[in-house]
Amino acid sequence: MEESLRFDQPEFIITAPELIRAMERMGVGLIITNPNLPDNPVIYVNQGFKEMTGYEAEDVLMRNCRCLQGPDTSAEDLKKIKLAQTERRAETVTLKNYRKDGTPFWNQLTISPVFGESGELLYFIGLQFDITKEVEEKENSSRRIRQLAFFDSLTGLLNMSHFKTELEKQLQEDIPCAVIRLNIDRFRYINESYGDKVGDSLLLEAAERMKQAAGKDGILCRSFADDFIVLLKPEKCSRYHIHMLARMLADALHKPHYYKNEEIRLSYSIGISMYPDHGNEGFQLLNHADLALKKCKQENIGEPYWFHFSLLDQINKRIEMEKKLPKALENEEFELYFQPKCGGSPEMPLAGAEVLLRWNDPEQGLVPPMDFIPIAEENGFIIRLGEWILSESCRLAKAWQEEGYPKIPVSVNVSAAQFKHPHFIDMVEHALVSSGLEPKYLELEVTETMLNDPVVIKEKLERLRSRGIKISIDDFGTGYSSIHYLKTLPIDILKIDKSFVQDTPMSKQDSALLVSIIQLGKSFGLTVLAEGVESKSQLEFLAASGCDLIQGYYYSRPLNREAMEQLFRKSMGQALI
Ligand code: C2E
Ligand code: CA
Ligand code: CA
Repeated sequence: MEESLRFDQPEFIITAPELIRAMERMGVGLIITNPNLPDNPVIYVNQGFKEMTGYEAEDVLMRNCRCLQGPDTSAEDLKKIKLAQTERRAETVTLKNYRKDGTPFWNQLTISPVFGESGELLYFIGLQFDITKEVEEKENSSRRIRQLAFFDSLTGLLNMSHFKTELEKQLQEDIPCAVIRLNIDRFRYINESYGDKVGDSLLLEAAERMKQAAGKDGILCRSFADDFIVLLKPEKCSRYHIHMLARMLADALHKPHYYKNEEIRLSYSIGISMYPDHGNEGFQLLNHADLALKKCKQENIGEPYWFHFSLLDQINKRIEMEKKLPKALENEEFELYFQPKCGGSPEMPLAGAEVLLRWNDPEQGLVPPMDFIPIAEENGFIIRLGEWILSESCRLAKAWQEEGYPKIPVSVNVSAAQFKHPHFIDMVEHALVSSGLEPKYLELEVTETMLNDPVVIKEKLERLRSRGIKISIDDFGTGYSSIHYLKTLPIDILKIDKSFVQDTPMSKQDSALLVSIIQLGKSFGLTVLAEGVESKSQLEFLAASGCDLIQGYYYSRPLNREAMEQLFRKSMGQALI
């Protein structure tokens, strides 16, 4: 049978010197104090204590160990220790302690009382663990969390929620201040052309420059992406001063940025609102500055733009209109008008008609297209509306042909959003098939500004053209890189914008320009049409300059269906009804 182990065997007995040696070698600090002597002095420290604190035994023996404490050792934790000592029980605290050389460390200290055989308190034993690394890691991560909670990680500026808190604080002081919102124009293109990294470094530089420009009077925030907000609280807070400061911000931003020796210049839209003129609450000032910013961007104002209360009326009107547009389509309030085009000779034979949309709003009467089409373009309703215009135009054109009227092409204006829509070609196809109109009688008018994505555009235009549909460039001369488009894109007709016709033939300069545009179009083999022809002298000048087609009030204003049919009959030599 196996001999059972007994604890009184010599192998199990540790002698006092061995025990002391074991205590000495413990990997942690050990300290023993005697609470029965005045001021509870240290009577033993082990090697671990010496390594942890840098103190030798003779530095601390017979002294209270408060030499480890410093100015920011937590008083509350010291109190806990004191209380445990008085109540003769164990306690654990984490203290900020100081080594002999003055450097701090974090000490997780557990004290325990040691009692004699008759229950009398003999000592306190303190076990010390150096947990400096753990505490610092925790502090770092909570600092990082705080940083994320309050600051933008890219620029280090305040984030939106923290900025709002700062703004509220400022408003409580009831002193005039201003909220400036800045947005970089077309920043998406920077990211797309140069990559996100370059985009980020530009944003960082922009933030730095704004900080410099705003100085001590500004609190800056990056609210999202390329959108910044500045709370300005200069001593002199007049509109003039704020405007000047906003300009300084804009100038700082507009200075060129450099990327691989390439100069990149950013432009900005800026909206301003002011406390208390434009609102008492933070959210109002932010919204109002945002409205001003949007207006600035939309209208390319190029100057810091101030909020004014009539902007709210415009917004309300716009919201009303947005709601009304789909109903107007359902209630058949839209109507197609037609502006005839004629050959550019003095006989002016009818050569086509441009479809122009009208809205018969029961409340406002006839609403011009420029008042609602841009809204429909922005909110996407143009897709449904444009589909209706296309199919209605084809349907009417076919109906006229079946009624025996002259076969002329109808041209339909196409918005950028509509053209970019992935199903645009299908919509056109559907309009043609369901009406039965031959594609050669349909023209689509696109504008130069829509042509800034030549690769996608070219493919779509070619598909339309291969069906026999004709393509016109509308408002020619008002966009940019015109010649480039003429060279690379499949186009049939060039419609010269009315601004070039307006002052001809009186203005020599405009007349010369007009002639050269006509020649340019012809040199590319295009049919050239002049818009906005209002007088006989304009017509004669254009005819003499070789312009193929004419459109304008001189020949006819836009006509409703009935009036257009009358014109058809007139052109066919029939009596007017
Ligand atoms: P646009 O395509 O340049 O259309 C020509 C505009 O010039 C029309 O204005 C027309 O009435 C006007 N106009 C015609 N002849 C003369 C003239 O001799 N003198 C002057 N001063 N103006 C003349 P409207 O009908 O108010 O249309 C304005 C714009 O609205 C159009 O410009 C076009 O961009 C847009 N639009 C009109 N209908 C539609 C449509 O069905 N779809 C789309 N997407 N846009 C449309
Ligand atoms: Ca047009
Ligand atoms: Ca036009």
